[in-house]
Amino acid sequence: MVETIEKIGDPLFRVKTDRGKVFEVKVVVVAAGGGSFQPKRPPIPGIEPYENTSVFYSIRQLETFRGKRLLIVGGGDSALDWTLNLAPLAKHLTLLHRRSEFRAAPDSVNKMMALVGEGKIDFVLGQVSALQGEGGRIAKAIVKRNDGSTFEIACDALLPFFGLTMKLGPVASWGMEMKGGEYIVVDTAAFESSIPGIFAIGDINWYPGKLKLILSGFHEGALMAQKAYHYVYPGKRLVFQYTTSSTRLQKKLGVA
Ligand SMILES: Cc1cc2nc3c(=O)[nH]c(=O)nc-3n(C[C@H](O)[C@H](O)[C@H](O)COP(=O)(O)OP(=O)(O)OC[C@H]3O[C@@H](n4cnc5c(N)ncnc54)[C@H](O)[C@@H]3O)c2cc1C
Repeated sequence: MVETIEKIGDPLFRVKTDRGKVFEVKVVVVAAGGGSFQPKRPPIPGIEPYENTSVFYSIRQLETFRGKRLLIVGGGDSALDWTLNLAPLAKHLTLLHRRSEFRAAPDSVNKMMALVGEGKIDFVLGQVSALQGEGGRIAKAIVKRNDGSTFEIACDALLPFFGLTMKLGPVASWGMEMKGGEYIVVDTAAFESSIPGIFAIGDINWYPGKLKLILSGFHEGALMAQKAYHYVYPGKRLVFQYTTSSTRLQKKLGVA
């Protein structure tokens, strides 16, 4: 996910992602739609220091969890799917859900219950109320049962699956003029923002008469590219061609 865009020339930008990739580019085209999907954080006070060391909202590599004591929280498809996938790898696995009804597919719930029946995993009703540990490493979770009583689950990792929410994310902090805090204001000649060299196309932009359609996004992309070309190749002539008649374009598309 792109986190920052810094202007370092005229036009030249340094673009950085949340995983540390850096790009230096003459033109940036923001096509961020309504933003990006971000995991919903469970309401556990003091969870932040554990995030990405002991608390994970997504799983990139199963092997990270081999031999670990895992606490998975949630009752949807993600919670159940990861319970089934991680059960054979984990040293110990507990699935925690606040009620006995699940949103997940009934087949996954049956498979999970079968593992509980075989004594391979634990299923517990309740909610995590606090975490204890040191230096970002969890030692245990304090779980509150529905009757208000509490108990502890010793664990190395907490995997909460509470669904995703659509968030605009960092787009609003890149310095372009915004409309209502959620849309990048652009001109309709080139779909350029208030910062020359940064364009915005698709659902993320705003101009009088804007329609949120893929159709509009294509039109905006075509006009944007005309102006972006001149930033990238100053002084070079742009040859306008149709895909129906240009063999060069057809070759590029692999249809010639
Ligand atoms: C139910 C429904 C039906 C529709 N039907 C039609 C139709 O029939 N015809 C039509 O023309 N249009 C239709 N639309 C509209 C169309 O879907 C949108 O106009 C189109 O998807 C917008 O495309 P986009 O690329 O601008 O945004 P998106 O498709 O939302 O893509 C934005 C992408 O940017 C990513 N992103 C966001 N922030 C960052 C960041 N900081 N760094 C990196 N990546 C980021 C997001 O993760 C996402 O992948 C429909 C829309 C809906 C909701």
